[in-house]
Amino acid sequence: MTGTLYLCATPIGNLEDVTRRVGRILAEADLICAEDTRQSAKLLDYLGIGRRRLIGYHQHNEATRTPRVIEELLAGKTVAVISDAGTPGISDPGEALVRAAIDQGIPVVPVPGPSAVVAALCASGLPTTRFTFCGFLPRHGKDRRALLQELAHRPDTLIFYEAPHRLVESLRDLLTELGDRRAVIAREISKVYEEFRRGTISQLMESLVEGAPLGEIVLLVAGAPPGSGQERAEMGFDPTELMEALLEQGLGRRVAALIVARFSGMGRNEAYQLGLDKGKD
Ligand code: SAM
Repeated sequence: MTGTLYLCATPIGNLEDVTRRVGRILAEADLICAEDTRQSAKLLDYLGIGRRRLIGYHQHNEATRTPRVIEELLAGKTVAVISDAGTPGISDPGEALVRAAIDQGIPVVPVPGPSAVVAALCASGLPTTRFTFCGFLPRHGKDRRALLQELAHRPDTLIFYEAPHRLVESLRDLLTELGDRRAVIAREISKVYEEFRRGTISQLMESLVEGAPLGEIVLLVAGAPPGSGQERAEMGFDPTELMEALLEQGLGRRVAALIVARFSGMGRNEAYQLGLDKGKD
């Protein structure tokens, strides 16, 4: 008899969100594979479970650890996988182990619980019936824009994980490639500074003029309205277009110029001159 591989979802901030079932499986498992053993030790302490069976399983040792874990499973051991937060395998290690276990006929059992993507979506106010989760947006502008162009025509709500220091650039590319759609910045879900910032992309950009928010972020964008997208998908980032979009939203020229300057890298005065025939001071 082989053992079973359990994929245990853990809290994304608030430890109270851990389920009883996860607690029981972690207590009973022969081996716990954790992305970061120090991080997971806090959860085990909270649950009153010893750290003895904890081993590191992360993106840097996934290739070498997977065969060892499979051996344990084939020998009949029960293995639980946890990541630093949320559901293993969702922008976190786990996928390779799951595939290897399936190949060996080892039972793979999900133990559901928190995941930032679902938590953010359900409270976003954006349509939830159809959504496309894209994980982290590519770091490089060219790759990011190429992905957004590919997604521009989808009617589904689009969901991305994003780092705070890349938020400004990502919003700029979203505005250029998708147009000024409804969007939500879901931040620090289940933690003290939880915040859902809702608006159009340009309004969210305006809210960031003073600086990008800190913490963990899920970025959600409404899907393409019927029959839209093609024109924008063919355009590159254009400061004049951004200025006009902001003025159309009713922003004063000075504030709009501040935003355009920040997002384009051009000077404030130069930005002020853009779209001079539109908007008010
Ligand atoms: N496996 C996790 C899950 O199921 O949500 C995701 C892991 S991924 C490495 C980490 C990213 O998830 C963060 O950079 C952030 O984009 C998002 N995230 C995790 N916790 C969050 C939270 N409490 N609030 C908002 N976003 C969060």
